[in-house]
Amino acid sequence: MPATTAEIFDRLLADGDETTAGNYFVANYPPFSFWKPTLIPRVCEVIETLSPEGTALGVYFHIPFCRKRCHFCYFRVYTDKNAEEIKGYIENGMRELEMYARTPRIAGRKPKFVYFGGGTPSYLSVAQLTMLTERMKAALPWDEAEEIAFEAEPGTLTEQKLEAIRAMGVTRLSLGVENFDRHILEVNGRAHKEDEIYRAYSYARKIGFPQINIDLIAGMVEETDENWKRNIAKLLELLPDCVTIYQMEVPFNTGIFKQMQSEGKLVAPVADWHTKRRWVNEAFTALEEAGYTVTSATTAVRDPQKTKFVYRDELWKGADLLGLGVASFSHLGGVHFQNLPDFESYTAAVQKGELPIGRALETTVEERFIRELILQLKLGRVSLAYFTGKFGVNVTERFSAQFAELARRGLMREQDGWLVLTREALLKIDVILHAFFLPQHQNARYT
Ligand code: SF4
Repeated sequence: MPATTAEIFDRLLADGDETTAGNYFVANYPPFSFWKPTLIPRVCEVIETLSPEGTALGVYFHIPFCRKRCHFCYFRVYTDKNAEEIKGYIENGMRELEMYARTPRIAGRKPKFVYFGGGTPSYLSVAQLTMLTERMKAALPWDEAEEIAFEAEPGTLTEQKLEAIRAMGVTRLSLGVENFDRHILEVNGRAHKEDEIYRAYSYARKIGFPQINIDLIAGMVEETDENWKRNIAKLLELLPDCVTIYQMEVPFNTGIFKQMQSEGKLVAPVADWHTKRRWVNEAFTALEEAGYTVTSATTAVRDPQKTKFVYRDELWKGADLLGLGVASFSHLGGVHFQNLPDFESYTAAVQKGELPIGRALETTVEERFIRELILQLKLGRVSLAYFTGKFGVNVTERFSAQFAELARRGLMREQDGWLVLTREALLKIDVILHAFFLPQHQNARYT
């Protein structure tokens, strides 16, 4: 007999659970295990069509290089590439962009947002960053972009490099701090040191980036209550424009999981989910007392009027995203696709003049509706009128059982045309979202 909605929520909301291996975050929908190489021809068709008037476009470039691999890292990154190989990779990324820039889908469009992610974009030298920017702007001018976001590892930043990053037009600098404690950074395999955080932050402030974000992870190996309090105190000393706090997950391709396997352990050596959520809540509460506003399950900002995150907000409203580089994710005209996942196959495809795509999925209108709904639920507030207007769907009727169950448990309420989640629900949102998946996507692999 299929489980009732109440039983599904009982299972999803079980609390105090240990951290075991696997992906926790819901970053996209439908799950990646449904994306297939056989579906790539739909990408080739969709790029030959024009995009509907008014569709926002973003560009993401994945820079897969790091000084060393963090033990919790699950991204496609390389720590052994020399300057020549990095230069070649940038050139290939730009060839890839130029191929798309000639297609009817992309030609003549001005990106609304640009995102440099990784890996470590700040691992690139000033000369490499300059070359990258010039080639990129020549292929697809950014002059109308509202946001240029750039991820940085504090230990790679000098004042001169930060000046070059700002000169590229970067508006949102995101510092991958993760933790302020020297020992915790070290045992988790981070390359940077505590004092490098303060140095990079003060240069960035002096240079005047419009927005500085600090990323933290709640529940790194050896995290303690005492140290987490110190992390919060450090945030309040620095007062960044935006704070992003992730709850530590341990996917299968991490160093931590390999260590667990070698020791025959099923539980990861990090805090349980209940503790991680408590730590995020303590940070959010302290930030709110200092005047911040919590704007999603992971973010708090000092000034919500001024500090936006265009990349996230546009993506969660179904914008077109062109992802460049190894393993990058794209979404064009309702078709999801991901690039080839390793350096060699990606390079070979671009060198042959082929689009380096590894797998794809054409979404249905219903899947696009659910995708936007679950992503926007991560904001903690969902506009009912948005979904009626865009998809012609009454959200509360379509998911009446799920919303009744959330309301019965005191996790959500409807207010003035909005669905509003409680803090408790927001901190567990990635497990709650599975209740909104179509039956065929329940229990799917998220890799
Ligand atoms: S810096 Fe980021 S991308 Fe690089 S290894 Fe560490 S977690 Fe992975």
